[in-house]
Amino acid sequence: MGELIPLPEPVRVALGDRPRSVLIDSAALAEVRARFADSQAEALAKYLEESQSPNTLRAYRADWIGWAGWCAQEGRQALPADPLDVAVYLAAAAEARADDGVRWAFAPSTLERKAAAIAAVHAANGLPSPTRSDVVRLTLRGIRRSRRAQPKRKRPVLLHTLTELLAQLPEPGWPTEPARRRDALVLLIGFAGALRRSELATISLDDVDVQTDPGTGEPVLIIRLPVTKTDPTGVRQQQVALPRGQRPDTCPVCAYVAWTELLEIPTHEQLRAHSFETSTTLHRCHGFQGTPLSDGTGRPLFPSVSRHGRISSTAMAGRAVAELIKRYAAKAGLDPQLFSGHSLRAGFATQAALGGASDREIMRQGRWANPRTVHRYIRIATPLEDNAVTKLGL
Ligand SMILES: [Zn+2]
Repeated sequence: MGELIPLPEPVRVALGDRPRSVLIDSAALAEVRARFADSQAEALAKYLEESQSPNTLRAYRADWIGWAGWCAQEGRQALPADPLDVAVYLAAAAEARADDGVRWAFAPSTLERKAAAIAAVHAANGLPSPTRSDVVRLTLRGIRRSRRAQPKRKRPVLLHTLTELLAQLPEPGWPTEPARRRDALVLLIGFAGALRRSELATISLDDVDVQTDPGTGEPVLIIRLPVTKTDPTGVRQQQVALPRGQRPDTCPVCAYVAWTELLEIPTHEQLRAHSFETSTTLHRCHGFQGTPLSDGTGRPLFPSVSRHGRISSTAMAGRAVAELIKRYAAKAGLDPQLFSGHSLRAGFATQAALGGASDREIMRQGRWANPRTVHRYIRIATPLEDNAVTKLGL
């Protein structure tokens, strides 16, 4: 991120003419020259110049250009500056976002440096600093304080939370059975697959393969993810494997069996008339081979479902997936603000870490390329592990 506002040409030209010693009070130096020998004035000038590192001088210079550009834009005077203008400028810079539109453009320390640059140029011109005024000091203090309050991290869905969310599924039977089965699968594979909401929304039935785990002989779901955030071209196709769960009600394969069984019913009328198997104590995934609906036509795995149980032919939007998770969170008495479509993914990493999975294992299933992302989740999971607080002897 460069400066907030492109610099008007006259300002750029005027600043370009300034020597590097922009921060040295030339009037004061002239006075020194008048009173002392040139060599003594030169020595003083040299050490004053050396008082700031070249990096600081460079930064101050860029900061001053930014400030002068803003003043030109707003029709305000840069030197000497009105303290209120400096405060407005710093507040506007504090609000600015980086090019990604998410992160802040300037850290509090950068904003303080911007203020320091304005102060330094005033000092160099023998002028009182506008940044000593209350309005500027309080603005900077407010910026520091507000940034110190950490942004709320989206709450990861841990296994017990997932169980709470699943407990909020609608009643078995008509007309809620389609939503019940679909939502259970969204919650389960979103969690076990560490999937993003956009990925959940775009999975088609053709992307799901049923294979047999050579170790247990039980079915495993293989979900191919054609498009990911890190690989939008789909050149390196990624897949996640979802083995059966310990309990039928938290088994992703059982949830898939239950959902596709319902999708296989050809008409809405037949669906309404169908009597559904409601037992949740037995695995239904044993021996499951797959569904004929994976026929290459690209049917969405997660179509939207109306309140009346009607299943649409189009996929849920990514936003609808996030809303679904928030809705279940609210029903479970949890703060929906803390749940996003990303929660299932964060929850996977946290729960896997609690279960003793290694970084490498977590990164593999979650397709995380950056270990730092995973470490952040693991820190949440095991705050006391590798943590010096346990060695304080409290
Ligand atoms: Zn199962």
